[in-house]
Formats: sequence, structure tokens, C-alpha cells
Amino acid sequence: MKTTTSQKLFTEAQQYIPGGVNSPVRAFRSVGGQPLFIKRAKGAKLYDADGNTFIDYVLSWGPMILGHAPEPVITAIAQAAARGTSYGAPTELEVRLAKMIAEAVPTMEQVRLVSSGTEAVMSAIRLARAYTKRDGILKFDGCYHGHSDYLLAKAGSGVATLGLPDSPGVPADFAKHTLTVPYNDIKALKTLLDQHHRDLACVIVEPVAGNMGVVPPGSDFLPTLQGLTKAYGVLLIFDEVITGFRVHYGGAQELYGIRPDLTCLGKIIGGGLPVGAYGGRREIMQMVAPAGPVYQAGTLSGNPLAVTAGIETLKRLKAPGVYKKLDTLSAELGQGIGDAAKRANVSVTQTRVGSMLTTFFTNGPVVDYATAKQSDTKRYAAFFQRMLEQGVYLAPSQFEAAFLSLAHTGADVKKTVEAAGKAMKGL
Ligand SMILES: *Cc1c(COP(=O)(O)O)cnc(C)c1O
Repeated sequence: MKTTTSQKLFTEAQQYIPGGVNSPVRAFRSVGGQPLFIKRAKGAKLYDADGNTFIDYVLSWGPMILGHAPEPVITAIAQAAARGTSYGAPTELEVRLAKMIAEAVPTMEQVRLVSSGTEAVMSAIRLARAYTKRDGILKFDGCYHGHSDYLLAKAGSGVATLGLPDSPGVPADFAKHTLTVPYNDIKALKTLLDQHHRDLACVIVEPVAGNMGVVPPGSDFLPTLQGLTKAYGVLLIFDEVITGFRVHYGGAQELYGIRPDLTCLGKIIGGGLPVGAYGGRREIMQMVAPAGPVYQAGTLSGNPLAVTAGIETLKRLKAPGVYKKLDTLSAELGQGIGDAAKRANVSVTQTRVGSMLTTFFTNGPVVDYATAKQSDTKRYAAFFQRMLEQGVYLAPSQFEAAFLSLAHTGADVKKTVEAAGKAMKGL
């Protein structure tokens, strides 16, 4: 595979951009090699600066559920651009997107649009703290909620251990408000809530974990979480930045029948442009400025281009059969990779919810961050490189999801499974 142009660009990038990238995982650090510079994308395909073509399972880390550059969305964005790219004043488009979201996700009675998932979560947490008049938050190990200070905190050992800063630059004073427990661990959750509920504003969770690789919730996990938070008077925040409009038109909460107090969205609702949203019960959302005292603002919030891309994307996702189609094709892919591994005598655990899936190189079940980390990341790196050479672009890290889009075809999946068959051999 020719990569000379990408290499040249990466050398130059490193001179002007820290690590040569604007978001760390893009740098291929955990899989080795150098990142490919992308020139364009269409449908399920990525085209790099050296003229290589790939079937894309990263999809910009989730947003491109219709595939890349879908004609009607691109046309609508171009038309919107001609009317001006930002006004800093209300538009009908914002109302339409907020209404579409509220109708799709009924627990989001009111919605505030922001510009990223990070911002959505940050704002939802501020709101939960204001509403409950408490500072503490509880998150689950291995769940990612954007890069705001107190959410980078992860567990020390032990369920009641106070969070330690995961990144330099996060004051211990901030991180100390974040408690963490293992995902899917109901017992640890109960213990911690029992001890700390008086100090806790909220529990925040990825209803399907996607940022430690895909880890589905156990059958009791989310219902128990809902019951406990309600009983203890702690708000439940669903971070559906990945799962919103990905696993179901109504998100994971619709799929599993849970009613969180607040929900965060991002990725898909921007159709590939920068959008995030948070929303929930009217009574809570009414605390957000200017309706209430909780300050949150944004120069580009509700940006007409981004909102247009969101509206046009959601319109297409609302069509009947969309999620069934994604599910069927994704099942085929997961099954195919699993079978390829079996034939090659490579131990893998396949996880999947709808069109998000992960191949873990471990033989045990993957139920939380600790078991996800059992995966042999060197094997994943080798698998990743062999797939890349065969024209399949997977996430350059074991601890991410593979995504499918409506542009992926049975032929794409077949080709991918064949590539996996070759890649698994002798791993
Ligand atoms: C991507 C992601 C975020 C952060 O969104 P950004 O748009 O990258 O800021 C937050 N939560 C989850 C679950 C995510 O997957």
C-alpha cells in the first residue's frame, strides 16, 4: 500500500499540530504505523491522499449513519450555506430539530442545542448539580463522556475510592467529586449509592458502552440503575452521544424501555457537522438560562448548517425498516468475523448492539472495562493493519466501536469478512 503522501503530510502536521492530529486516537498510536490522510469520502468508502480506497467502519466515530456525503443532506447543507452560515439569532431550523428530537426521544421534553458531545455532557452535569444542589457525580469505569475536567476522572481501586485525575491539568479538587464503579456491577453501584447518595447530583452512563469497545448492558443493569437513582433522589443521565439514533430512532432508552431524567446527544444529530444536545424533563430544563439561572451559551449553538444536516439525517432515519436493515447487516458482519476467527483458531469475543460492534481478542466474556482490557491489544493492532492493507478501515484502537451505515452493502460486508478470514490466519 502506497502511503508516501500521508507520511509527508503527517511529518508536516507534527510540526504545527501536537502529535499531528486534532484528536488523539486519530494518530494510530495504539496500532502502530502512521495515520492516513483522507481526501474524500462517499457512501461506505474513504479515499486517502495516496489514492487508496477503504470500506469505512469508523464513520467519523459514529455520526455518518447514512454513509458519507449523502446527496440530499449535502444539497440541503449547500443551500443553507448560501443563506448565510451563522446569525447568532434564533431560526426556525433550530425549532424543527429540537422538535424532531423531542418527538423521537420523549423524555427530552425540552432540548438545548450545543456544538459537541463534550459540551452537552458538561452542561447536563452543571444542570444536575444546580437542580439537586449537590456536587458529586457517579460514572462507570471505561465510559467516556467527553473531555471536561471532572469526567476524565476514573477509578482508583475499590468502589468507594475517590476519583483521581486521569490527565495532568485536572485539579484533584475537581476530580474528587467524581466517583466511579465498574460497568454492569449492580452490587458495587448499590453500595456506593447507599453510602454517597446524599452528596450525589447524578449518575451518568453510556446505556450501551461504546468507548471501551462495545459493552452491552446486562439485562438488569439499566432497570436497576433507574430504580436506584429514583429511590435515592439522584438524577439519571443517559449519555446517548453514540447510541442516540444509532441503536434505535428513540435511542437506547427506547430500546431498553428506560426513562432517564436527562439525555445527552451528539454525533448523529449533526449529520457530520458539529452539534450536541442535552434535554430532559421540562421542570429541570426550565432551570437553564434564560428561563432559569443555570448559565450555558454558545456563539455557534444551533448553527444553521449543522442543524440542517441534523434535520435531513433524522428525516432519513425515520423511514420504516432502517434500523432492521442496519441490524441485519451488522449481525452478518459480527457473525462473519467471529467465524473467521474460529476457523483460524483465534479466540475472540464479539459484542454488538445494532450497528455498533467490537471484536475483542479474548476468550472470556466482556462485561466491563476490566474484562475489555483483557483483550490482546497487540493482536488487535496486527488485525487492524492486515485489514487496512486489504482495504478495510477499522478504528485504530481496540477500545472503540465499529459502525455500519445505510450505505454499507452486503457486498461490502462479504469483502470485509473475506479480509478478516485472511487477517486472522496466523494471528
Ligand atoms: C463522542 C462522545 C462524547 C463526546 O462528544 P464530542 O463531540 O467528541 O465532544 C461524549 N460521550 C460519548 C458517549 C461519546 O461517544
